[in-house]
Amino acid sequence: MTSLEVQYLSKQYPNGLYPAVNDISFNMQNGEILALVGPSGCGKTTTLRLIAGLERPDSGDIRIGGRLAASQLTFIPPEKRGIGMVFQDHALFPHLTVFDNVAFGLRGRKKIEIQQTVYELLDLVGLMPLEKRFPHALSGGEKQRVALARALAPRPVLILMDEPFSSLDTDLRIGMREQVRSLLKTMQASVVFVTHDQEEALFMGDRLAVFQKGKIQQIGTPEQIYQESATRFVAEFMGNSSFLPGKIRTDGINTEVGFLLQSVSLPEDMNVEVAVRADDVNFLPDRTGNGVVLRRVYRGMMNLYSIKLDSGRTLDAFKEHTDIIPEGTRVNIFIDAGHPLCVFPQGVEINHKNFNPAAKYPAC
Ligand code: ADP
Ligand code: MG
Repeated sequence: MTSLEVQYLSKQYPNGLYPAVNDISFNMQNGEILALVGPSGCGKTTTLRLIAGLERPDSGDIRIGGRLAASQLTFIPPEKRGIGMVFQDHALFPHLTVFDNVAFGLRGRKKIEIQQTVYELLDLVGLMPLEKRFPHALSGGEKQRVALARALAPRPVLILMDEPFSSLDTDLRIGMREQVRSLLKTMQASVVFVTHDQEEALFMGDRLAVFQKGKIQQIGTPEQIYQESATRFVAEFMGNSSFLPGKIRTDGINTEVGFLLQSVSLPEDMNVEVAVRADDVNFLPDRTGNGVVLRRVYRGMMNLYSIKLDSGRTLDAFKEHTDIIPEGTRVNIFIDAGHPLCVFPQGVEINHKNFNPAAKYPAC
């Protein structure tokens, strides 16, 4: 069963220069967490507001739990869509206790049923002892857990979360991610989770939809998005990739840092760019090497090096935190990936696996 179906959805604000959401389609299964990720202004919140019924689409259909919620002829108001929402600012009712905040969506039900549901959820989010507190006496993390319990209480078909952890500080944010994900999985909730943070999206999503300028660039599992980026944008945004020029040879690619053994179905001699990340790049001090250490940033677990190649291009490379090589040292860089790399025909946005030599692609 699908919890959500979005088809050909578009929305342009009256004063917008281009559509905030531009012809997007995706489906979600019951119990799935889908992370919408992309840079600020790419249309994530607008997508969520369209699903919630806080905006009307210009075109396209939205089905929630199999029921048509929005189309050219249909518009079901937000309160009748069977969704729960959690936002960055928690938006708790300041004059209601923790218990009453969580009970808010259960109005009209039997008292005993309300008590049972609220206590079950407070127990799940670990807030039982705070049931009589008011929001002003809660920490950021506690408020966020109340907001989540409140959204889950009416057992919505779908939960929408918009950057729910972005107002929390780093330590708390990482702890909350883990707690909230396991809670959502326990409840088998279907969730659309919006974030601009790549790492958070990879952690939270069963699948990710990567947005750019109102369009979905790729939908897939975290592994597919990271290892098989469908477009240059996805490789760059999700993996901080650098692009290394090369030429296709029979069983690999020739580059300025050596020959890469890769199976790529592109014609020989074609110019390409290979996406490489800091964890794919290695180097050793070598007085006759192909580059120079430009900068070292100590990241705690790792040293992140920028190496300047003789061509002028720079590549990033990770080394262990104990492996310290001074800036200015001449080194030999090589690619040490141990997995297939994403290869893009030069001047084309699309991965070679989806590349059709007969198609005309806009320049990137
Ligand atoms: P995101 O959540 O990914 O940061 P948004 O969906 O908020 O992106 O915004 C997408 C685009 O729509 C942006 O260009 C933004 O400036 C514009 N936008 C968002 N809300 C409004 C609005 N109420 N009126 C006009 N333009 C808006
Ligand atoms: Mg937003």
